[in-house]
Order: sequence, then structure tokens, then C-alpha cells
Amino acid sequence: MASANNILVVGSSNTDMIIKLKRIPRPGETILGGDFLTAQGGKGANQAVGAARAGGHVTFLARLGKDVLGDQALAAFKRDGIDVRHVLRDPAQPSGVALIFVARDGENSIAVASGANARLSSADVRRAGKAFADAGIVLMQLETPLPAVEAAARMVADAGAAVILNPAPARPLSNKLLKLVSILTPNETEAESLTGIKVDSVSGAARAAAALRKRGARSVVVTLGARGAFIASEDGEELVAGFKVKVADTTAAGDIFNGALAVALAEKKPLRGAVLFANAAAAISVTRMGAQPSAPARAEIDAWLAAKRVGWNFEGVG
Ligand code: ADP
Repeated sequence: MASANNILVVGSSNTDMIIKLKRIPRPGETILGGDFLTAQGGKGANQAVGAARAGGHVTFLARLGKDVLGDQALAAFKRDGIDVRHVLRDPAQPSGVALIFVARDGENSIAVASGANARLSSADVRRAGKAFADAGIVLMQLETPLPAVEAAARMVADAGAAVILNPAPARPLSNKLLKLVSILTPNETEAESLTGIKVDSVSGAARAAAALRKRGARSVVVTLGARGAFIASEDGEELVAGFKVKVADTTAAGDIFNGALAVALAEKKPLRGAVLFANAAAAISVTRMGAQPSAPARAEIDAWLAAKRVGWNFEGVG
């Protein structure tokens, strides 16, 4: 049955394979002495895990390869209590992989092989009709093909649920798609690339958000890193300040923000309270290393907000 509590995440899953070494190798060069680690990543999977840990009932629609990396990703989703009935296994393409070099000075170099992610199709979306009918909120990004995102947005609009679109990585979007979006959540770079408006200040974020609302998005939340997030909706505009923390690694901060935002909205919190909750979840995540390993549990987010004496559970505030 359709329940506002159910969150459907549609998107990508990758395995990040990271080598930390003294510097990034040049073409043709081999450097010995690196440290190797793997982590589950991909914007879709990060957001699904972020939402599940933050307390959401999450279903994930994605494509993995029929390989060991796909098995590992699937097992990790199950450990987080994610409904994986719509995680498809692609017989023809491997699971998505990101090969990441991180140099001692923090510089990185990343190559992504999308593999099965690139084959998530509008037919897959149509076949998952029941998951759409059951969802109150559908959360998507742009790491999987646009036709699937567009088909999903149309289905959600027909079912009367809400679409949160995190337009990352940035790519041109039609007004037709933006009109189906309840909440668009670009970061500064994405807001700038979608609008051509410089977004390096709160007033820049306000101008870009207004332009995106004019093109059809009902509400826009521009994430502004440590500064927090700027909301523009029919109830007005507001900067919801971020939390001051000691940063260890900002990888996936935006993903954790989006996952937590979906959870608070599924719980019928007003947008301002939901953004505050998302700021807290993302702030906790940047104090830790990694993408999915850094996603906080609901109890941690609640304890954090209680310790800061921040009430976010308020009613009726736009
Ligand atoms: P992305 O990770 O997509 O580039 P942002 O950098 O805007 O997105 O970060 C997303 C959210 O994560 C911010 O809105 C904020 O809530 C939180 N965040 C990011 N960086 C910090 C930081 N240094 N301190 C506190 N919160 C942060």
C-alpha cells in the first residue's frame, strides 16, 4: 500500500577501490608503496544507505553485475535493512567500479566504469511499478541514464508521491523534468552549471534557486557545504545554517544530506525542519572517513541534535 513512510531510491551503486599513495601516478608511471581499501559507493547506494540508517523504510532500484562485487554490495544493502527486491542483476555488464587514487596532499584522481549502472532503463522503472505505487517519496540522482530518471519522475507524479532529485553529477535538464520535481537539491557547482548563475554566496544561491523554481522545480534546496543549505519554496526563502564540526572527509556529504532529508520528509516534517535534520546527519558524516561507512544511525542524529539543544521536530513551519 502507498505509504508516505516508504522511500524509493533509484540510482547507482559502485564499489570504490581506493589506493592511497604519496602522489598520483603520471601516465606510464608505476608507483609502489600504496595502501589499498575498498568501500561501497555510488550516489544512489550512498543515499539509500544514508536514508536507511537515518530511520527510513527504504527500497532501492538499481542494477548490479552478476559478479562478486555485486554480491558484496547486495549483502551490504541487506545488512542496512534495505528492501532489495528491485536491485537487478545484469548478465551482460559488471558492477560499477570507481578506481580512486588519493595522494598524501589530499589530491585525488578518479576513473569510473559505470558498467551495469549505465543499463538502468525506463523498462526497469516500469517493471518496478509496485515499488512506485508504494512509495511516498522517490529519491534520485543523475549517475544513471536520464530516460530512467524521467520515466520514474512521470510515474511518481501520476501516483501523487514526491520526487527529490539530487542533480549530481550535473547535466542539462529539461523544464519538462524539472516540473515533475518536488524538491531539487543541487550543491553550489550543480546549481551554477544548471543556471549559469555564479553560486559562491547565499545571494547567488538565492538567485539560482529562483531561476530553477521558475523553470518548474517546486522547491529548491541548495547545499552550501559548511554553511548549511538554502531553501527556496512557496513558503519563502531561508538559509538553514550548518553545524560546526572538525572535518575528516567530506566524501558523500551531499548523499547523506539527501538520504536524511528524504527520511524527515517521509515523517511529514516541514521542509525547514527536514533540512536541519539533514544538516545534522551530513555534519556527523564529515567527521568520519568514507562514503557509506560515514552515514550516521538515527539514534546518533537524535542524540547530536539533543546535545546541541536543537529542536527540529516542530510543526507547521514552512
Ligand atoms: P556535496 O557533498 O554534494 O558537494 P555540500 O558540500 O554542499 O554537498 O555538502 C552537503 C551538506 O553536507 C551541506 O549542506 C552540510 O549540511 C553538510 N556539510 C558539508 N560540509 C560540511 C562541513 N565542512 N561542516 C559541516 N557540515 C558540512
